[in-house]
Amino acid sequence: RAKAMGKARSEVFEPAIHDRAIARMQLEIDLRRALEHKEFMVVYQPIVSLNSGRVTGFEALIRWQHPQRGWVSPAEFIPVAEETGSIVPIGWWILEQVCQQLRTWQQHSVVDSRLTVNVNLSGKQLTQPDLAREVKQILHKTGLSPSSLKLEITESVLMDNVDAAVAILQQLKTLGIQLAIDDFGTGYSSLSYLHRLPIDTLKIDRSFVNDIDCDPEKIEMIRTIVSMAWNLGINVVAEGVETKKQMYQLQALKCDYGQGYFFSRPVDAEAAKTLQYFEIRGSRSSRRSKQHMP
Ligand code: C2E
Ligand code: MG
Ligand code: MG
Ligand code: MG
Repeated sequence: RAKAMGKARSEVFEPAIHDRAIARMQLEIDLRRALEHKEFMVVYQPIVSLNSGRVTGFEALIRWQHPQRGWVSPAEFIPVAEETGSIVPIGWWILEQVCQQLRTWQQHSVVDSRLTVNVNLSGKQLTQPDLAREVKQILHKTGLSPSSLKLEITESVLMDNVDAAVAILQQLKTLGIQLAIDDFGTGYSSLSYLHRLPIDTLKIDRSFVNDIDCDPEKIEMIRTIVSMAWNLGINVVAEGVETKKQMYQLQALKCDYGQGYFFSRPVDAEAAKTLQYFEIRGSRSSRRSKQHMP
């Protein structure tokens, strides 16, 4: 049917393609202005120990409030920002915001001193020659201890060039920060190169967690990932935990940490600092939060 309609279809869709190109150009223009117009904000999603229920860290996620369009998803604008290069200044901005925020929380003793904060690093940022220097400078400027910061890099970006990635990650490690592989399991070469990468954490992609009820193969893969990570001294976070059942299964699989809507959606800084513990042992309430540390 599609074939027969090929010609008619292309005529029908030409205006749509044109509209898309215009929309895309507009997005590029708007992105370039968004930083100075202060249209970005940071939200935080807790990462929870599946052993204790303690919030051990947060992942920082960017949000863009477009003056006309309202909230634009990072899934839409991050790839564009990557292509145009505006992800680089945006990336430094968010890193500084987040380091500043955690430092402020620490100074007011509103968070556990062991708490870490994760910031996503794009592929484009990873290949900036001054990456390590820039990170070091932001840590210095904000006064945050390097050990409180964890940078997340997606597996596919690392896989593009493993040798280059190893060299860059080693530079970052010498700063004393922590490193995580994001969306792990989505790239296909996976496990064999892991021992070469100086990483602290593996984040299992949420597609595995999604299918944990219905796909025994995914369960076996999580089991394999967890045991291999254990052997390498790397800890494991399961992304996209949405139900209690998934949490129990991940506990049974000895996964160290969970992150997902079951615990909390990403929230603003004010709300984030009140999240300290979640109930993880089958009691009625799913959440316990405190205003301040004891
Ligand atoms: P990611 O780094 O893998 O972040 C996790 C994404 O999963 C976030 O989407 C989060 O809101 C979403 N999520 C968390 N729990 C659940 C759940 O239980 N179910 C479902 N369905 N989703 C869940 P978000 O915030 O829309 O970000 C999408 C992606 O955009 C991120 O994926 C990351 O790759 C990128 N991104 C976001 N913020 C930044 C940033 O500051 N810098 C860079 N370079 N990339 C960013
Ligand atoms: Mg991430
Ligand atoms: Mg991820
Ligand atoms: Mg992702």
